[in-house]
Amino acid sequence: MFVKPFRYERAESLAHACELLRSAEGYAKVIAGGQSLLPLMNLGLLELDLLIDISRVDDRSSGLEDGYITLGAGLRHGDLLLGSPVMDRQPLIPAAAAWIGSSRIRNRGTLGGSLAHSDPSAELPLVMTALGAEYTLTNGTSERTVSADEFHVSYFTSALEEDELLASVRVPVLGPGWGWGFAEVARRKGDFALASAAALARVADGRVVEARLALGGVHERPMRFGAVESAISGATADELGARVGPIEGLAPVSDTSASAEHRAHLARVLAVRALTDAVRRGEAA
Ligand code: FAD
Repeated sequence: MFVKPFRYERAESLAHACELLRSAEGYAKVIAGGQSLLPLMNLGLLELDLLIDISRVDDRSSGLEDGYITLGAGLRHGDLLLGSPVMDRQPLIPAAAAWIGSSRIRNRGTLGGSLAHSDPSAELPLVMTALGAEYTLTNGTSERTVSADEFHVSYFTSALEEDELLASVRVPVLGPGWGWGFAEVARRKGDFALASAAALARVADGRVVEARLALGGVHERPMRFGAVESAISGATADELGARVGPIEGLAPVSDTSASAEHRAHLARVLAVRALTDAVRRGEAA
């Protein structure tokens, strides 16, 4: 496949990248790790007039402030895995990042790229939805904050305006009494998920006080499932399987990897698995 010739610019700052997006003649996109964009271009599914490289200016820092973790959009998936004082405070993120592709993909792919790409099967949009993350978007002159839930609109569609970039992400640290769980089924290790579940549970006296459940790969975007969260209130870890029935509101699709029915079945199994892990960890917390 021949890729249509395009112009390449290396941005000197995020503001410069936004300016280039605004003033571009034709279709322009930024490239960060290139692990989603380049396959699309190589397969002829995406033709660009201008490619703007932000890989030297995106923010790769992480920090802790007032009970929240701040993550720069330029952090590589591999950075999210490392046992560090920051990542250890929200273990759901490293647990999910470990499922992404291979080490080659994790060394190049970025947090911002994965979230902006908004693949409903991807791990990072899923955990950010479960955690109620806030994303900071910039157009170079002003910033706005949107929740993960507002940001991930549909298949490969986000709330980003054409001249906006994702700059950073803010998530709460894992609170006292809270446990976490992440479960996924893929055809091979490193493949995209057929279905996945990210869960958090606050536990007291062995029973669920509060829970958060988000599912991936079974809807046009990662989504919380409030009915399941309510249904398990007061349950012990052993009672979860009986409390979680068939999950309402799924919209899985059939493709060459799995049928919609199989994905819906997996969603329930993985929800119970992730919630059980979350409750058991919450008991021990
Ligand atoms: P790029 O490819 O550079 O960009 C992706 C999109 O995001 C583009 O539209 C780009 O314009 C936009 N973008 C990038 N950065 C920003 C920003 N800061 N602000 C606004 N827009 C931005 N992903 C998974 O989640 N799970 C997997 O199991 C998985 N397996 C993979 C297996 C293979 C073989 C490959 C090639 C990829 C796989 N991926 C998987 C995708 C990988 O995680 C990508 O790294 C990620 O989706 C995109 O990050 P990136 O930095 O490479 O983004």
